[in-house]
Amino acid sequence: MEHPSNTLVMKFGGASVATPEHFARIADVIIDRMRDFNRIAIVVSAMANTTDQLIDLAKKVNPDPPRREYDMLVTVGERISIALLAMALSLKKCEAVSFTGSQSGIITCGKHSEARIIEVKPHRILPVLDAGKLAIVAGFQGVSKGGEITTLGRGGSDTSAVALGIALKAQRVEFYKDVPGIFDEDPKRKNNANMFDELSFDEALNIVHKGAKILHPRSIELAKKNGMILHVRSFNEVEESKRNGTIIKGNREKAEGFHYEDI
Ligand code: ASP
Ligand code: MG
Repeated sequence: MEHPSNTLVMKFGGASVATPEHFARIADVIIDRMRDFNRIAIVVSAMANTTDQLIDLAKKVNPDPPRREYDMLVTVGERISIALLAMALSLKKCEAVSFTGSQSGIITCGKHSEARIIEVKPHRILPVLDAGKLAIVAGFQGVSKGGEITTLGRGGSDTSAVALGIALKAQRVEFYKDVPGIFDEDPKRKNNANMFDELSFDEALNIVHKGAKILHPRSIELAKKNGMILHVRSFNEVEESKRNGTIIKGNREKAEGFHYEDI
């Protein structure tokens, strides 16, 4: 495969798509990024508490739902987000195509509700990017080799974004949050918290292992294995020039070949 230059993966979490109005805002953030990157794939989480609500709903029907049916249900949350984001972009005259995890070629093991990514085959995404359109991918989900819909465990869409970034040979993966970056203390509680400009993968892992809910640890591990640069930043600033954020990277350039998760 040619080394596709200038590819970006942008990941939007539940807080960034909390209400219908949020979709217009993040559409503007994406459109602003199109000035710097000509190939952009976007990974989205379910809206705010949607996943929790779907799990509650399942438990009302069956306190211990079969894992396959649990995955079938909870993957709906991300599916709502991808379709709404494509609609918001369309309103702004921007062509975007949404894909489920399965359509995106995110292949996992068969362990329902806790699946690990084995490989990513973005056959449907590449032609969309080649055509100059945006590809929107549902986070948190994939498909097993047997064709079953799987989920990656709570918070799994960070890992989806990094896996997709590796498969697309993206320059970096940007995570859009309701905070400007990664801080030494919780910026929502301490207003004198300091933001890091840059962290190594191990420093970032240390921070998340101490309990900061900034990125899922698996996503950082996967980025570390593959030398993928991560950038944590705010969705509240539409213009790139007003945003800094925290870069997470290692000394190593991109690793040879793809290394996905250990099953
Ligand atoms: N929506 C899923 C969850 O809430 C996945 C994610 O947000 O990363 O766990
Ligand atoms: Mg979520």
